[in-house]
Amino acid sequence: MAATHTDINRVKSYGVVIDGATEHLDSEPFERRNPGTGELVARFARADEHVTQRGIDAARRAFDEGEWPTISGQARSRVLSTLATLMRRDHEKLARIEAEETGKPISTARGDVEGSIGLVEYAAACALTTHGDVHTNLGPGFTGLVTREPCGVVAMVTPWNFPLLLLMQKLPFALAAGCTAVCKPSELTAGTTLEVASLLEEARLPSGVFNVVTGPGRVVGELLARSPEVDFLSFTGSTAVGESIVAASSGTLKRLSLELGGKAASIVFPDADLEKAADGVLFAVTFNSGECCVSGARLLVHEDIADEFVAVLGRKAAELHVGAPLDEEATVGAMIHEQHLDDVLGFVAGAREDGATVVSGGERLTEGAFGDGFYVAPTIVDHVAPGTRLFSEEVFGPVLAVTRFTDTDEAVRLANAVDYGLANSVWSGSIDTALEVSRRLRSGTVWVNTTIDGAPQLPGGGVKRSGYGREMGQVGFEEFTEVKTIQIRTSLA
Ligand code: NAD
Repeated sequence: MAATHTDINRVKSYGVVIDGATEHLDSEPFERRNPGTGELVARFARADEHVTQRGIDAARRAFDEGEWPTISGQARSRVLSTLATLMRRDHEKLARIEAEETGKPISTARGDVEGSIGLVEYAAACALTTHGDVHTNLGPGFTGLVTREPCGVVAMVTPWNFPLLLLMQKLPFALAAGCTAVCKPSELTAGTTLEVASLLEEARLPSGVFNVVTGPGRVVGELLARSPEVDFLSFTGSTAVGESIVAASSGTLKRLSLELGGKAASIVFPDADLEKAADGVLFAVTFNSGECCVSGARLLVHEDIADEFVAVLGRKAAELHVGAPLDEEATVGAMIHEQHLDDVLGFVAGAREDGATVVSGGERLTEGAFGDGFYVAPTIVDHVAPGTRLFSEEVFGPVLAVTRFTDTDEAVRLANAVDYGLANSVWSGSIDTALEVSRRLRSGTVWVNTTIDGAPQLPGGGVKRSGYGREMGQVGFEEFTEVKTIQIRTSLA
């Protein structure tokens, strides 16, 4: 692997951003080390409840007294278009920050930045085109207006795996609707969120419309959930924290959107293009090193083709290029931290005890420069029994659990036999099979002969314990709006 080194002078100390000003706090900062090399890459401020409250107050004032919620959609669209242009200008810088803080390969990080820009451009169009309905068929002298208004102060709590992309599934849509925001990124990977705050200032977003408060989830995130001044909390993260947010927010009745964990299946039928399917299945489980909510963590494969298909996967998995974040050739990077690496390997050990067979990988990579980081070899585990931990629980690493099926009914039953319902992929050459299975799968997204695909127009979100609410697309934009009905009686018919 190519070893890469961060210039120590580049280590940036970030503050919090409240009401348009960056504040450096006295408290001990979080130090972020590159999980692929061990080098220090950033320091983030550690806010307490008092600082968090000031972030909420700033967003509240900007909503209640500021111009942002009421200026024209064209004016909001212009700010978002400028943000997209500035992100293009800083594309490589953003990608590098993302790669170094998360441990993902730079090629993946570049794709994340590109995808994020696409979301901002789409949201800019939403700001321009949103409109309501007029009802003129209600009888003489009676007219109804159904309008959409910004839903208020939005708190955004985001995880570490796609810090920029997941922020951009929320922020530009909320801004397009006229909302104001206070964001709490993961304390591990807050760099790009804070860079976006400064780009938005450059794009002339009014002060206080976007505030960023970094700090511990239990302090900052919980206050955002409890606060009556927050109208809507949009959360992406684990199911466990999602549940605690529901509990903490219950006294306020605020709106929630919860994008939580997943355990997606790739379902492969014998009539699929098996070469493409093998590449797709492997991509699905190793993309972002498996640290992906929609990761194709399970393979359900028809028993007639299973032995050969798994053998091909094992060969291809061994050929994948695992490498440091700035290694241009790498397609699989490092785990986010050592505890997580241990948890991932714990799943593999548990599967062995449950009688499954490790076909490839299954261990930590430690040779040479790998020794400086947290790398897991891409891992295929065959004969994973339904109901075991590896079959049911989210691993969040490059570990594929393989289970065989005999017919379509069993494939659907196995795919739906987990608590999560975020996404699944179907690989088949038959439109009949693909459509029938897609309709029977209980997940917010189904991919057919593709995987981890998408476009800004297409909503994403979960069912069951993967959460509720949708992001992206027109539906995702409308989540940040409230419908108001204005009923007018006039004396002249
Ligand atoms: P996490 O739930 O530990 O943390 C997410 C965010 O919540 C972080 O900013 C964290 O500081 C904050 N937080 C922690 N405790 C909190 C509390 N008590 N109250 C409020 N906020 C709190 O998740 P993670 O480890 O950062 O990310 C991995 C998880 O995110 C995985 O389960 C993954 O499936 C999920 N995820 C889901 C999606 C999706 O779209 N459904 C996308 C990416 C990741």
